[in-house]
Amino acid sequence: MSDLSTRLIHHPYRPPEGFDAVAPGVHKASTVIFPSVHALRTQEWADKSGYTYGLHGTPTTFILEERIATIEGGAHCVLAPSGLSAVSLVDMAFLRQGDELLIPDNAYGPGKAFASVELAAWGITHRFYDAQNPADLATKIGPATRLVWLEAPGSITLEFPDLPALVAVVKQTNAARGGERPILTALDNTWGAGIAFNAFELGADISMQALTKYPSGGADVLMGSVVTRDHSLHQQLLMTHMRLGLGVSGNDAELVLRGLNTMVLRYAAQDAATRELATWMQRQPGVVQVLHPALPGSPGHESWQRDATAAACLFSAVFDARFSQAQIDAFCDRLQLFKLGWSWAGPISLCAPYNVAAIRTQGWPHQGGLVRFAVGLERVSDLRADLAQALATLNA
Ligand SMILES: *Cc1c(COP(=O)(O)O)cnc(C)c1O
Repeated sequence: MSDLSTRLIHHPYRPPEGFDAVAPGVHKASTVIFPSVHALRTQEWADKSGYTYGLHGTPTTFILEERIATIEGGAHCVLAPSGLSAVSLVDMAFLRQGDELLIPDNAYGPGKAFASVELAAWGITHRFYDAQNPADLATKIGPATRLVWLEAPGSITLEFPDLPALVAVVKQTNAARGGERPILTALDNTWGAGIAFNAFELGADISMQALTKYPSGGADVLMGSVVTRDHSLHQQLLMTHMRLGLGVSGNDAELVLRGLNTMVLRYAAQDAATRELATWMQRQPGVVQVLHPALPGSPGHESWQRDATAAACLFSAVFDARFSQAQIDAFCDRLQLFKLGWSWAGPISLCAPYNVAAIRTQGWPHQGGLVRFAVGLERVSDLRADLAQALATLNA
């Protein structure tokens, strides 16, 4: 072995065992080396007793999965490369041709699009239901229904549903039906992040999160997770996950692990700042309603009060109908600290105007335009001053 390349690639030095530090090591692999052919043939990864291939997990991703499962009060976790891929993973793991999926009308939009384009092409149908009305869910459940998505609160409009009542509708249907393949409930828990409430205590079978948001906290990484308490549901998710080839990189897992250490503190700080700004915004001229589940009068406030102990960094303002979309767009353009962009729970405050009527099948009570705000980690008084200067121009 005189060739330098060979000597370097097969270099024998191994650092001493026993290194310990605050941050878990970042392990990166496609190839995982087996000590013997016997190990190559028998090594198990699905129960986390060993390693076989980068796609099937590394020490870094196993550690992140265990921590996410703990945060959510679940038992098992799989990681996906984005929040949206975690949504589609759940759909693909549990739905077959001829099945029907029910989705809240106010659910995260790209998840609805996955159902209406991709799932529809595979012969899986879907219907939208009004998540603020459990009776509507009861009428929409049909003989082919196999999966019901839940989301608390709704995307953009932030209505907080009565989760136990929605779950009860599904459980009653399952009890009446008997037999195999009960209807499963999957909750998009990105907003609660495992902090505001426990998805499993409220009855969900599956809890999905965009780790892109709070767990990362940096606005610089995309990742998703699917947590379960039930081992057989986890196995089903894990096998579909493997066949789809959904991997996450060690570097990205490291970023989320780093973010988790400060997540509880960030959540509380952003919660307090958001409530302060939302309460202030409610009193401003030209604002018809502020949507935030902790505000009395906001849709689902009573359910939030009963079932949650905290709230995330989002609020939406519905403006007076006298303002044109162009005026509302100009208001958003005028904001200096609130940047224009998607996602939330990062350090920078964000805003985006939405035409809610255009994305709802079940109607929308307001005429005026809506702007959703995501509060970052800047000082509250600076953010309030920024909103005030843009509102002054709007109302001038
Ligand atoms: C952001 C988000 C997602 C998707 O996450 P990505 O990582 O951006 O794909 C899904 N659900 C909710 C509620 C979200 O806010």
